[in-house]
Amino acid sequence: MDSSIDEAVTPDAPDAAGTGTGPAAGGGPERAAGERGALAPVSLSPSRAGDFMQCPLLYRFRVIDRLPEKPSEAATRGTLVHAVLERLFDAPAGERTAPRAKALIPGQWDRLRESRPELTELFADDPEGERLAGWLAEAERLVERWFTLEDPTRLEPAERELFVETELDSGLRLRGIIDRVDVAPTGEVRIVDYKTGKAPRPEYAEGALFQMKFYALVVWRLKGVVPRRLQLVYLGSGDVLTYDPVPADLERVERRLHALWEAIRQATESGDWRPRPTKLCGWCDHRAHCPEFGGTPPPYPLPVRAPGSRAG
Ligand code: SF4
Repeated sequence: MDSSIDEAVTPDAPDAAGTGTGPAAGGGPERAAGERGALAPVSLSPSRAGDFMQCPLLYRFRVIDRLPEKPSEAATRGTLVHAVLERLFDAPAGERTAPRAKALIPGQWDRLRESRPELTELFADDPEGERLAGWLAEAERLVERWFTLEDPTRLEPAERELFVETELDSGLRLRGIIDRVDVAPTGEVRIVDYKTGKAPRPEYAEGALFQMKFYALVVWRLKGVVPRRLQLVYLGSGDVLTYDPVPADLERVERRLHALWEAIRQATESGDWRPRPTKLCGWCDHRAHCPEFGGTPPPYPLPVRAPGSRAG
């Protein structure tokens, strides 16, 4: 999931998908402690790479300042649907039916609220439960649609919600969580990611595949095998987007990530995190702190190196 990125982060971005790579989950291990408890980034996930590409200031707010963000209905529904699709594979193949999957929703919703009590505020103003009922009904529709796109009775995932992490030769650490990994008897690997939003228009497909190529690069570096297929399953629109990568694709992604990491390093040292306003600002929780919207960022919590000075 991480949703998605130069490829802008949308409400259905990887974070929304509940891969655990959202602002809260992704901020921790991606940073190293600095002065006054502030943290400098030490690794990159698709979600955070996407944040920086979308808006460097957004990256700063999420990774360095760790400003809180309100849970959203769309993101939380994404997390819920992901949990249901993951758990369904606990059942024997023949029992992985749509009714069974839908029956998992209430229990997974309970689990989610227990693990993240802040989610109860989502429906705090809904005493009759009408909005919650509609929200759960939409989760059911998304789960049901999955069965028109894939047949879980014929799938036996090698991995579900797989945390992956690797260090490139340059020292850059890449990490993320892959929704599903299928391995064919021939050994060919397919990486699958579920999106609860709609498929992008064709001209944005490359952006949507960035996250998948990121994962493919990590798997290649970890296991020495280039995944045969990358597959994005869009439950919102009922589309499946696939791409069969070759090493040159992943080498390009690696170069791009190095350039991105260098830009992040420079911004971290200089404290110069530029806002980059786009229509996605409408989804940003940090407008009150953003100069583009008349706000002021909190004081920069990391030491700032003067231009031209070098690390000693
Ligand atoms: S409101 Fe827009 S420009 Fe400002 S931090 Fe958020 S994404 Fe960046």
